[in-house]
Amino acid sequence: MGVLGVCLKVCGWFPVVFITAVVLWSYYAYVVELCIFILLDRSIPLMLLYLVLYHIFLVLFLCAYWKTIWTSPTKVPSEFYLSSSELQQYEAEDRSEEKIEILKSFVRDKRLPIWTRTYGGGMRYCHICKLIKPDRCHHCSVCNACILKMDHHCPWVNNCVCYNNYKFFVLFLFYTILYCFFVAITVLPYFIQFWQGNLGDRAARKFQIVFLFFAAVMFCLSVLILMCMHTHLTLTNRSTLESFRAPVFRHGPDKEGFSRGSFCGNFKEVFGDEKKYWLIPIFTSKGDGVSYPVQARDQDSDRLLEGDMESDIGSGPETEDRDAGKKGIRESIKTSTTYSTMNSSGVAEGGNRDHVTLHMDKGEGAQVNLAIEGDSTR
Ligand SMILES: [Zn+2]
Ligand SMILES: [Zn+2]
Repeated sequence: MGVLGVCLKVCGWFPVVFITAVVLWSYYAYVVELCIFILLDRSIPLMLLYLVLYHIFLVLFLCAYWKTIWTSPTKVPSEFYLSSSELQQYEAEDRSEEKIEILKSFVRDKRLPIWTRTYGGGMRYCHICKLIKPDRCHHCSVCNACILKMDHHCPWVNNCVCYNNYKFFVLFLFYTILYCFFVAITVLPYFIQFWQGNLGDRAARKFQIVFLFFAAVMFCLSVLILMCMHTHLTLTNRSTLESFRAPVFRHGPDKEGFSRGSFCGNFKEVFGDEKKYWLIPIFTSKGDGVSYPVQARDQDSDRLLEGDMESDIGSGPETEDRDAGKKGIRESIKTSTTYSTMNSSGVAEGGNRDHVTLHMDKGEGAQVNLAIEGDSTR
């Protein structure tokens, strides 16, 4: 890393230092100036209540912020990287169509669980990291790495917001709003007293209270907008990047491609199944960051349109959700029935047990297999 790289790395911490400085100042203004210097003389129970609640909100906010900053993105698994021989083969080819076919053959051979494509229909490949990008993975130019389920690179946390820390980031926004709202609402009466001239004579203290109120309201409103946006993204199972540019599947670009079909399902993909962990900044997101359940028609169209990809279906991540998706597209009706056939005179000739298996595949094509085992009559 050159001098420029070191300078950029150091500069990357400025927004974090700024936020930390604002929090430290707000701590002084709230705890010392408001609670100790103003409230101590007026109401000790109120002061204690404010101090306890303030510290609870502060700790929750700092924990989420800390985890968002210091949770490093997981590295892309080694099987997605091209080996030296594969890289040689890929780079020796000049024709773009052939390059696409080479990458497709790597995906097939390695049985990589990939559903997304480029706009041209090829595999998504990172020329910098020399890897086939897993679904929802993007190259971050700031981190200079491919990041799993990359949402965006956030300067305020000097880190990529991605699969590993997205829950922490949303909690960070949530607790920032709670912290700022609590400060604003409890400082409001003293802010009003300032304008009425009832806040004492010390000018520095009065301005601390006024600035504390303005800062809390300003941060609360600006983060609220961001929180609304990320709530929508969480509930629809999209990343910020995907909301600007829809992921491309076999059937084309589709913003809903990774949706679990319900707000609840999408929420649980980020926050996990257990409610008790939802508000705590510990990692509970589902999956491995590499493979994602996709809408049924993608799996189905992959299988129907390209026979040689069939193995991918079986080799894909065998999660419960993926199995559930398969059930959604395939209705296997197995019946075992005993019946009698009637002769022309209307007399039952007798029957036996037959097995009828009916597979119905819905998708871009349709396929019905009807298999009857055994003789229907004897
Ligand atoms: Zn990359
Ligand atoms: Zn980044």
